[in-house]
Amino acid sequence: SKDHNVRLRELALKQGLSLNEHAFTPTDGGDEILCASEEDLYEVLNLPYIIPTLREDRGEIEAAQKGELPKVIQIEQIVSDLHMHTTWSDGKMSVLEMAQAAQARGMQYIVISDHSQSLGIANGLTPERLWQEAEEIAAANEQMGPDFRILHGTEMEIKADGTLDFEDEVLARLDFVTASLHVSLSQPREQVMLRIMTALNNPHVDMIAHPTGRLLPDRPGADLDMEQVLQTAVSTQTILEINANPARLDLRDSHVRRAVELGVTLAINCDAHHVDHFELLHYGVATAQRGWATAETIVNSWPIAKLLAFLQEKQG
Ligand SMILES: [Zn+2]
Ligand SMILES: [Zn+2]
Repeated sequence: SKDHNVRLRELALKQGLSLNEHAFTPTDGGDEILCASEEDLYEVLNLPYIIPTLREDRGEIEAAQKGELPKVIQIEQIVSDLHMHTTWSDGKMSVLEMAQAAQARGMQYIVISDHSQSLGIANGLTPERLWQEAEEIAAANEQMGPDFRILHGTEMEIKADGTLDFEDEVLARLDFVTASLHVSLSQPREQVMLRIMTALNNPHVDMIAHPTGRLLPDRPGADLDMEQVLQTAVSTQTILEINANPARLDLRDSHVRRAVELGVTLAINCDAHHVDHFELLHYGVATAQRGWATAETIVNSWPIAKLLAFLQEKQG
């Protein structure tokens, strides 16, 4: 960002150098120091290399000077996606096609999370259809073999009246439960906060997807007290999503940064409705990096055993 570059110029001036595009000019008229690469540029300033997604003047230069730059999540570390749709709701591909495409991209496990019954527009699943889907997932798991695992989840509506779209008995039978706000996002803060708090406080709810529900550029998303959402996510061990779809990027980078400070567990998911959507992952990773999230914080970098242990511990 511009602010980051301004800070670099200030640092350069303190060393008696004027920084222009690719070179330093000594202010006393000495020979120009050309920088062939960005790495060279940081080296002249006695800084470790700072990757582009951290260049926001949000403390990265001070952290770099102290040797405390975060080891932010890298796309190669992602081994799972916890949020996707199939032809059972509004997706375009079968369970098996999604699993095979994910494996081809280096994933080790996925969660199938089709929409729930009250979202009629997306062909949401009744419990009855959910258990039919479970049979297809079991068959696909058989076909994928031991090196890949498909978990059965749901993307459950947090309904406008504040109730959840499935009974606890249904949720208890699923491997992974995600809750989402899709409807009545423009409710007053008090009302929409009650809805998201109900989801966060339900012990069966493992993750909140795209927490604010914003859609860029036109839909601003729910008026949440994000500090309270983040703190409750910590206390209830609920995962919050960084939705990688560039129309969402929700949580956004500034929310991620605060979430990391508070110790929220996060996930980066493509919300794929088609195998091509797995390509969106890098947008989510960049958002996580801008929020200083490390692999430890991002569940998609965990082996499946670690995730399952985390979910079990939450169940207490
Ligand atoms: Zn959604
Ligand atoms: Zn979704």
